[in-house]
Amino acid sequence: MRILVTGGAGFIGSHLIDRLMEKGHEVLCLDNFYTGHKRNILKWLDNPYFELVRHDITEPIRLEVDQIYHLACPASPIHYQFNPVKTIKTNVLGTLYMLGLAKRVNARILLASTSEVYGDPDVHPQPEEYRGNVSCTGLRACYDEGKRVAETLAFEYHREHKTDIRVARIFNTYGPRMLENDGRVVSNFIVQALKGIPLTIYGDGSQTRSFCYVSDLVEGLMRLMNGEYIGPVNLGNPGEYSILELAQIIQGMINPDAELVYKPLPQDDPKQRQPDITKAKSYLGWEPTIPLKDGLELAIKDFRERVSQES
Ligand code: NAD
Ligand code: UDP
Repeated sequence: MRILVTGGAGFIGSHLIDRLMEKGHEVLCLDNFYTGHKRNILKWLDNPYFELVRHDITEPIRLEVDQIYHLACPASPIHYQFNPVKTIKTNVLGTLYMLGLAKRVNARILLASTSEVYGDPDVHPQPEEYRGNVSCTGLRACYDEGKRVAETLAFEYHREHKTDIRVARIFNTYGPRMLENDGRVVSNFIVQALKGIPLTIYGDGSQTRSFCYVSDLVEGLMRLMNGEYIGPVNLGNPGEYSILELAQIIQGMINPDAELVYKPLPQDDPKQRQPDITKAKSYLGWEPTIPLKDGLELAIKDFRERVSQES
């Protein structure tokens, strides 16, 4: 199959491309390299079944493909808040053009949506039926409202044009190739512990998240794409940890002497988050297999190599 991966040079996209190439597909990686890097896809650049397209999805593009994994969008708050209007354009115009492309060539398209569509949830854990608690004017709105419109567009293309859609709501995912300066909690804590600088806990660290290792997530995306269920479906690891617990686990794994410091909690930071994955289990036969400590070992190994190269 000819498969387009938008955002393919990014963290999740590049792991997905590894799996698709290993399965013998022809892969088109489309990226504008905002948060993605060529080094993530370096090993495929000379492969004749791999093509790299430098393109910004806020402009239309014509391509011939069978499937589209639509992942292009910065995922970390510091990156998506750097140019919020651009984030909205990426989510709205970008998704509109990708759905248009899917419609034109009759391709199946999977939208990478997010647990952020639930905002700061007052239902816990979050099932797909929960409609969310999102501020439409807050600092996170460019991302979470952007993704909500992206989901709406996907479902309207499906209803109006019979476009073959799949919608995944991805919860916090971590693993090798996250950017060192990504600003997300797992990468921050690992890099800080490796560098021997204090781990920065925002707020009192009682807010919770659930962390899914990237290979588990990629397996879920591929099952969703190739199954019959269109979604939206939560993909995440139900293991829930407070941010303080996460800091202590990483501290224990890298540097028990590392200091913890407390910084102000960012605006609209969700207090708790845990996926209800009943639908993923029953419709996709999917659930995560990698425990947090095992996944962290793999992520730490990758960061250790990169941090030591810097110094
Ligand atoms: P990432 O930032 O590593 O990857 C995003 C990729 O999209 C990058 O390569 C970037 O350069 C590219 N991109 C951004 N804007 C673009 C544009 N306008 N045109 C073309 N390319 C563009 O992020 P990730 O963690 O790999 O996330 C991938 C997708 O999964 C995103 O859509 C994100 O919203 C979603 N998601 C991720 C998480 C997570 O925890 N990582 C959680 C929920 C949802
Ligand atoms: N966080 C933290 N220290 C950091 C980075 C993040 O305490 O150095 C907190 C952040 O405030 C949030 C949680 O960790 O409560 C997860 O943040 P991240 O940006 O990784 O993901 P998101 O908030 O988008 O789920």
